[in-house]
Amino acid sequence: MGTKGREIVGVDVKKLIGMLNSALSDEWLAYYQYWIGAKVAQGPMKDGVVSELEQHATEELGHALLLVERILQLGGKPVLEPKEWYDLTGCGYDAPKNFDVRKLLVQNIKGEQCAIMSYKKLSDFVKDGDPVTYNMAVQIMTDEIEHEEDLQALQEDLKMMLKRS
Ligand code: FE
Ligand code: FE
Ligand code: MG
Repeated sequence: MGTKGREIVGVDVKKLIGMLNSALSDEWLAYYQYWIGAKVAQGPMKDGVVSELEQHATEELGHALLLVERILQLGGKPVLEPKEWYDLTGCGYDAPKNFDVRKLLVQNIKGEQCAIMSYKKLSDFVKDGDPVTYNMAVQIMTDEIEHEEDLQALQEDLKMMLKRS
């Protein structure tokens, strides 16, 4: 980013870049958790669940892109080593060891709820000092809220369907 763009940032930039790299690590882990989950999923309403997981995987990558661009604009260095994702992540990674769609949904909902909280924290941190990062954090948080909603709706549909049969 240009010098003026950086000058107007009124928060601790080092701390901010740390938070952004943590979020970036979360997004890559979330991407892979969705992507691999979509490959191994089994059980009722598999097709509907798989297409939602695939869509979310793509959207998590989009979030990673926004975060990298902002880190670079702020003069920071984005995490370069995938093995550092595990050190930096705030939300962790839940390997899909049980392939039942119901188990995958529970794991991914937990991830989304963590993501919502971490973008809430990020948006609170930059609210007054960095409107550009604030807008980005709110935009991503809006997607994460939609992700949680989509997955919980699928969970409800599954429950109704299985009760009927
Ligand atoms: Fe995301
Ligand atoms: Fe998400
Ligand atoms: Mg969706």
